[in-house]
Amino acid sequence: QVTIDKIAAGEVIERPASIVKELVENAIDAGATHVTIEIEEGGISLIRITDDGSGIMKEDIRNAFLRHSTSKIRNVEDLLHITSLGFRGEALSSIAAVTKVEVITKTKEAILGTRYVIEGGQELSLDEAGSSDGTTFIIRQLFYNVPARRKFLKTAMTEAGHVQDLLIRLALSHPEVAFRFLNNNQEKLRTSGSGKLKDVIYNIYGRDVASNLLELDYRQGGIHITGYLGKPLITRGNRNFETFFVNGRYVKSTMISRAVEDAYKDFMMQHKFPFVVLHFQVDTETVDVNVHPTKMELRFQNQQEVYKTVFEAIHRQLLEPEL
Ligand code: ADP
Ligand code: MG
Repeated sequence: QVTIDKIAAGEVIERPASIVKELVENAIDAGATHVTIEIEEGGISLIRITDDGSGIMKEDIRNAFLRHSTSKIRNVEDLLHITSLGFRGEALSSIAAVTKVEVITKTKEAILGTRYVIEGGQELSLDEAGSSDGTTFIIRQLFYNVPARRKFLKTAMTEAGHVQDLLIRLALSHPEVAFRFLNNNQEKLRTSGSGKLKDVIYNIYGRDVASNLLELDYRQGGIHITGYLGKPLITRGNRNFETFFVNGRYVKSTMISRAVEDAYKDFMMQHKFPFVVLHFQVDTETVDVNVHPTKMELRFQNQQEVYKTVFEAIHRQLLEPEL
C-alpha cells in the first residue's frame, strides 16, 4: 500500500503548490470561511494550513488517509460530475506517502480534538488533543523519502511563487472565503471573505486596478459570463492578468485569451494585454476539460462559437458610453 501510494503521489504531488491546492480545496469543501496558509522554504520544509471547517471525527481520520476513500462521492452521478475536478480521494494518501504529516482537528460536537501523525504513509500516533473547531494540517519535508523527486523542486522563491499564484486563483474563485497567506512569517495575501469578487480584486491587485473596472454579466447560447474587465487604460505586459474560471475551475485557454485580446484591440493604444477576471458558467455537456488533474488547458467542443460569444460579450461592454 505504501509503495502504491508513493507512485500515485508522483502523479498528483508535483510541488508544494500541489499540496496547498488539495488541502485548501478540502478546507473549502469542509465549509471553512477562514483559511490560513503558512509556508517556509517555499513549502518544501513546511506547509501549515488552518481552517475553521467541519473538522474530522476521530474515528474517520485513518480512513481519510486511505487511497480512494472519500466522503464526497455517494453515487454514480456524483462520480461523473467530479471526474474533471481531481483526485477522488487520493490527495491525503498521496501527501502522506511523500511527506511528514501532522493533523489536529476537532468537530463542533466533539469535546476534545484529535492529533494524528503519519509519515511516509506510516501511522505514528492517533491521540486526543486540545483544539479549536476546524482542522490544521502541518506538512513537513516534502519528498524526504523520494530523493529523485526532490531534485526536481525549484528554489524556495520559485516554489513560493507557485503557491502564491495558486492562492490568488483560489481567492478569486472563492470570494466568500477569507484567505491569509504567509511566506516565512511575512503576510503576502489577505482577503476579507466578503463574498464580493471586486473586494478580492482590490485585496490582490490594489486600488489602481480595482477602481478601474467594468462589470460584466452576459448570457448567450448556454454560456453565462460574469466578472470584471479592466478599463483599457489598465494595460499589462503579459497574459498573467487574464484569469478564467469555467464552472468554478481555473483554466488556461488560448482561445479565450485571443477572444478577449481581440475584443480589446480596438480600445487599446499599443498592443498590450488587458486585466480581466472572468467566470464562465457553461453546460457541462458542451465543455470538454482535459482529464489529467494537473493540466489546466481547456478545450470546448465548439471553439468557434465560444470565441464569438466571448468576443461579443467584451466588445459590447467596452463600447458602453461610461468609458
Ligand atoms: P477527497 O477530497 O477527494 O474526498 P482527500 O484525500 O482530499 O479526498 O480527503 C479525504 C477526506 O478527508 C475527505 O473526503 C474529507 O472527508 C476529509 N477531509 C480532508 N481535509 C479535510 C478538512 N480540512 N476538513 C474536514 N474534512 C477533511
Ligand atoms: Mg480532496
